[in-house]
Amino acid sequence: MSLDWEKIERTDLWKILQKLPKGSLLHASLHAAVDVDYLIETAFSTPGIHVYATRHLASPDDSNEVSFVFQYSSGSAKDTEDKPTMWSATYEPLGLVPLERAASSFPDGGEAGFRAWLKSQCTPKVGFLDYQRRAMPIVNSLLSYEPILRSCLRHVFAQIAADGIGYVEFRHIFNFPYHKQGRDTPEEDYGEWCHAFQDELARFRGTAEGRGFHGVRIIWTSRRSLSNRALSESMTYCVLAKCDYPEVISGFDIVGERDERSLTDLVPILFWFRKQCVEEGLEIPFVFHAGESLRNEDEADQGLFDAILLGSRRICQGLSLHKHPLLIDSIKEKKILVECSPMSDEILGLTDGIQTHPLSVLLSRGVPVSLGTDVPGLLGQNAHILTRQFWQAIHGLDSMGLAGLAMMVENSIRWSCYEDQPTGEWLSDLREGILGEGVRARQLQEWYAEFEKFCEWVTQEFADIEVDEAK
Ligand SMILES: [Zn+2]
Repeated sequence: MSLDWEKIERTDLWKILQKLPKGSLLHASLHAAVDVDYLIETAFSTPGIHVYATRHLASPDDSNEVSFVFQYSSGSAKDTEDKPTMWSATYEPLGLVPLERAASSFPDGGEAGFRAWLKSQCTPKVGFLDYQRRAMPIVNSLLSYEPILRSCLRHVFAQIAADGIGYVEFRHIFNFPYHKQGRDTPEEDYGEWCHAFQDELARFRGTAEGRGFHGVRIIWTSRRSLSNRALSESMTYCVLAKCDYPEVISGFDIVGERDERSLTDLVPILFWFRKQCVEEGLEIPFVFHAGESLRNEDEADQGLFDAILLGSRRICQGLSLHKHPLLIDSIKEKKILVECSPMSDEILGLTDGIQTHPLSVLLSRGVPVSLGTDVPGLLGQNAHILTRQFWQAIHGLDSMGLAGLAMMVENSIRWSCYEDQPTGEWLSDLREGILGEGVRARQLQEWYAEFEKFCEWVTQEFADIEVDEAK
């Protein structure tokens, strides 16, 4: 499905949806929220950026197999002047090459060709596997250097606030050591990453465009493909970051491809993580990806059972959920929200389109659902990421109207992990909703007021048309 967004963005329906206060964005990856053009520009304008590859990239076919990433180094260009670059068969694996040199020596069109190639590596159109394997390491390696991280965060915060989003929980995989500005030696943990994050968020909220913005937190995300040892290391970093920057870390998730380790297989180590959290007195709730496939696959379905049993507060994707009435009952009873992203599911080849996406079935069975973006970078453009999902839902589903969208927005606020709460408190707060006394209730009250203003604006601005007509 390719949509003519330029045309769509001129419609009345688009104008209405853009203005709709969208509550929280709960399903989004930080690396995918970064605008690729902006990132490449920033990399080129930041001094000391180098690239390295696990093997030479002399023939174009190699580029899909070899890992190619960025790293800061203060070493002068002179040091590496006569060493072969990764475009030569004599390249020494892992050798650092200054970005400018790698670009200008790119065999297919010099710097311009390199920029185009790099962009294509960050926005593959082939599907999830390629996207994860190629784009994520490239983007995350750049987000591991302080000046680039700060610059990209500023850009991302501005874009999401401009899209009418009030709060975000970004999933992020910490798979590269973090370098502070001008430092060759990486940090031992991710405390400084969290510090820069908190700092930029505070700065953004102090600006005019960030005034109504409630905040952003990070769901620490590990990869299923890791060995138990590597996984426990990642979990330990998570605990350390949470101890020092409790406001930054809101939850824990573990992601990967379906053929990798199942949640069942991971249960022992997840319990180990739980125990570490309890010992440190930390509240890091699970917010798992599960049921990532529409097809009949026992493992994906088993993942749903495990996610529920492990006490996941929300479930991401849940594509196979609609086939299991028992699970649906259990999800409703345990007050678990399903984070749906029909548009990216389609782009990733997991579903055929919004019409066949389980979203409408879940809604009709009374499952709490919210709309997310997951991999906006794949859409080629990152502005208005959530407005596009809303547009697709209202346009693609006959049963969906403004009331349906508003309900999903309300859900997104109710299921936000604004603050650390033990399970009992979380559940009672959820139940009380707007009548509660904490941050959640306040956010709901604020949103109701904003929504009322929005409805007034719609009736004044579009006095002679109806939303259904605008479709
Ligand atoms: Zn996801």
